[in-house]
Amino acid sequence: MENTIQLPTDTFTTNPYYNEFGGAFVPEALTAKLQELSDLMEKLDTDETFDREFIYYLNHFVGRPSPMYFARRLSEKYGLKLYLKREDLNHTGSHKINNTIGQILVAKRLNAKEIIAETGAGQHGVATATAAAMLGLRCIVFMGAEDAKRQALNVKRMQLLGAQVNTTSAGRGTLKDAVDAALGYYINNPESYYLLGSQVGPHPYPRMVARFQRIIGREAREQILEAENSLPNAAVACIGGGSNAIGLFQGFIDDQQVELHGAEGGGMGFLGKTAATLNLGRPAIFQGTKSYCLLDENDEPLPSYSIAAGLDYPGISPQHAMLKTNKRAMYHIITDDEAIAAFRELSTMEGIIPAVESAHAVALALKKFAKTGKTIVVNLSGRGDKDIDRIPLS
Ligand SMILES: *Cc1c(COP(=O)(O)O)cnc(C)c1O
Repeated sequence: MENTIQLPTDTFTTNPYYNEFGGAFVPEALTAKLQELSDLMEKLDTDETFDREFIYYLNHFVGRPSPMYFARRLSEKYGLKLYLKREDLNHTGSHKINNTIGQILVAKRLNAKEIIAETGAGQHGVATATAAAMLGLRCIVFMGAEDAKRQALNVKRMQLLGAQVNTTSAGRGTLKDAVDAALGYYINNPESYYLLGSQVGPHPYPRMVARFQRIIGREAREQILEAENSLPNAAVACIGGGSNAIGLFQGFIDDQQVELHGAEGGGMGFLGKTAATLNLGRPAIFQGTKSYCLLDENDEPLPSYSIAAGLDYPGISPQHAMLKTNKRAMYHIITDDEAIAAFRELSTMEGIIPAVESAHAVALALKKFAKTGKTIVVNLSGRGDKDIDRIPLS
């Protein structure tokens, strides 16, 4: 691995691999489509008109740049300098919209007539339905039947935005099944555009999603330099598929002195009741890419579990698999209970109700850096309105 060339992470490249991870393991019917998408992304990465349009919507529709907020009371209590990158303040309430805006503009360049997407908790589905409505494109969102039941409010939001929600009762009726349903539809309807919501799936999706989320790290780097006149000691984010974390990490990845830490959805902390893919999984090919995956003893994918629907996925980005293997980043298990405690701390001490996903990142920062006096940037990936029914009043 040492002799593999490390490609710069801040530009789109057509290389499908991150060292031994990544690739595009897809049915023949999709190979040409994905190649076309990869070629287009390479062109668009240096296309000023495209970038201007992307930035325009980020500024005027999403509300970027998102603030960098110094969490004073938590910092004093825990003995560190805690800064929060406020992705929760974006339109639709999370970082997901950065990627959906980018990809919907790509779909427009491809003259796609229809957008399809998968969703778990419904956050990516809502972001996609929003972006599709903005451009007047037809939108179908695939969702597991169980998730659709648990997240009825987001189903209604998507429908109000004009999207069609197709539920699937295959498997457990969760995110993995929604991805399978969306891929199945895509293979039979190749004229549609598949708008993937995290840094997973076959090439070029992981590189494309990283490209659209890098805005988080770019802003964060500038903002922390402005606030502290120096780089932070560490950048911390939660890891579902890996998109908000890679967005933040890209701002600091070339600065070796900045530690990068990911918080995995630990659930109960043991196999069968966890989503800690990088800590408890093994390398495998899963849903189009080679990366880590939660597996049983027969190497079959295991169902994942986390209190945070956005972290509840048995796979993970191939780039994070590489960053784990080459030790540039470290990944930690944060349990449901630790996340709930951090959720409460942030709500009562800072007046910010975070997404329970993001609470994992806050929990990790407080656990690892308490009493160190260090400067830590945490990506607050989303707001918590969707979670208030799941967090008991202590
Ligand atoms: C979807 C989601 C996540 C997890 O996805 P990543 O691709 O790992 O970022 C984290 N936080 C929020 C608020 C989400 O909606």
